Amino acid sequence: MTYRIGIAGISTESSTFAPHRTALDDFRVVRGTDLTDRYPFLTDWHLPGQPDVEFVPLLQASALPGGQVLPETYDALETEILDRLRAAQAEAPFDGFYFDIHGAMAVDGRRDAEAGLAAKIRELVGPDCLMSASMDLHGQVSRDLVSTLDLLTAFRTAPHIDYVETRERAVRNLVHCLTEGIRPVRAWVRVPVLLPGEKTSTRVEPAQSIYASLEETERLPGVLDAALWVGYAWADEPRSAATVVVSGTDREVVTAQANRIARAWWEARNGFEFCAPTGPADWCIAEAFESDQRPFFVSDSGDNPTAGGSNDVGWLLGELLATPALASGERTAIWASCVAPEAVRTCVEAGVGGEVTVEVGGVFGGGDPVTLTGRVTHVERDDAVGGDIAVVRSGGVSAVLTSRRKPFHYVSGLEALGLDPAKHDLTAVKIGYLQPDLYQAAKGWVLALTPGGVNQDLGALEYQHVVRPVHPLDADLADPDLTPVAFG
Ligand SMILES: [Zn+2]
Repeated sequence: MTYRIGIAGISTESSTFAPHRTALDDFRVVRGTDLTDRYPFLTDWHLPGQPDVEFVPLLQASALPGGQVLPETYDALETEILDRLRAAQAEAPFDGFYFDIHGAMAVDGRRDAEAGLAAKIRELVGPDCLMSASMDLHGQVSRDLVSTLDLLTAFRTAPHIDYVETRERAVRNLVHCLTEGIRPVRAWVRVPVLLPGEKTSTRVEPAQSIYASLEETERLPGVLDAALWVGYAWADEPRSAATVVVSGTDREVVTAQANRIARAWWEARNGFEFCAPTGPADWCIAEAFESDQRPFFVSDSGDNPTAGGSNDVGWLLGELLATPALASGERTAIWASCVAPEAVRTCVEAGVGGEVTVEVGGVFGGGDPVTLTGRVTHVERDDAVGGDIAVVRSGGVSAVLTSRRKPFHYVSGLEALGLDPAKHDLTAVKIGYLQPDLYQAAKGWVLALTPGGVNQDLGALEYQHVVRPVHPLDADLADPDLTPVAFG
């Protein structure tokens, strides 16, 4: 017996509070065998030791998190996936399907995007085909999604360092079920807790222990996989909340374990804290000046592009320029970064050493622009992600401006622009929790509560569609019913 498994998916994370819109050219669309790098555990489209299972890669599209996906962009990607799926099935039908998604994509004007795509794939592959998904733990799992798929798993680390392992687990579980003739049972439960990733990092408690316990659950007889989704706080959708899915063959065990994990998350709800000292911008700037530790990072968290921020909010730059010790140049700061194509054009024309006055911020609608007057210290042309990039120094503040959205989550990315965080009094980056490279480099770190599409102060956001009550938006909640629903 040989088996055929199709592979496709779309992954991005969409803030419904960010004015930015994700378009087709924001996606990296990879087709067919060009997807080899994404699945290093497959060799020539086979899983080692499983020569009878053939994988057929169709299309995977990934975009940096951002604002909602334009409907025409989503439709173009969906159409191509379904067309490729039909063509591949015309050769031979699929026995399995690996659905490679993030889980928090939002399409402007629509709801529950991934469940919609899963349903359309299901229509083509038929009810007998086994479908397995790998997801980001900041994804969302609606009842529609879990009922359409046969297996779902998610990252177990935040920051995410286990994305390849997670993809491999989704594929191995799928192959195991196919070759053993298993139709798995999924126990699903929504936990009415909606928290930002910055309070639920698995580097710290209580998330650390709860996530570690998933592996213990997975070792139990009758269990194939245990997954816990923190959910995504910046999507105003009914599905936004924490979710647990335990999959396996023993209905009683998977149900009891899903309930155990859901209760653990609920009971820990008041223990989730920001993973770094957190406060308003002026407090963060003062902390950096008081500290003698360098590099000292300040997370400009409200507009973090890798969480879905527009990357066009100039607000913190305004605060830095208005700080006397920075304006005078007595102290120094790096601020990275902001999409400001007009300003970058002006800088490119002026050249390194040129004096410019430019408006920074609000190109997608993310707040009022900030006027920046200074000298161009660096110009980079045609960066693969950020397009043209310029650095403007005003007093002691060096501001990084880009033509397109680009996170600066590596020290080397700043060094390439002639900026050394160790030689500045503070380095403000549009980020939430520090990604591993900056985390390793940091001698000091605080998280600034700043405005933007991924504002960490959830109470400041106007939710209309999230199912209430939910912690922490509503106070004094009674214990919810955490009885899992079993599918399959
Ligand atoms: Zn994530």
